[in-house]
Amino acid sequence: MDIIQYTRKGGVIMQMSEAAELRKAWKEKGDPPCDHPGYHPKEYHLGTSTGDRVCTVCGYSGHPDSFKK
Ligand SMILES: [Zn+2]
Repeated sequence: MDIIQYTRKGGVIMQMSEAAELRKAWKEKGDPPCDHPGYHPKEYHLGTSTGDRVCTVCGYSGHPDSFKK
């Protein structure tokens, strides 16, 4: 399953529904802590950006600032 989609502009996005799937799978692993490594695609609900970013590991979504350490 490809969870990352590429927009025509070349940006990487993830659908909200896919983030929800990731979160569910992560919880089934026991919901371990995640420091959200790597790139965080923009979260989209269908064709619209939610303004949030998504962790491709655990499915966490939140404001871009919440990924900064
Ligand atoms: Zn994460």
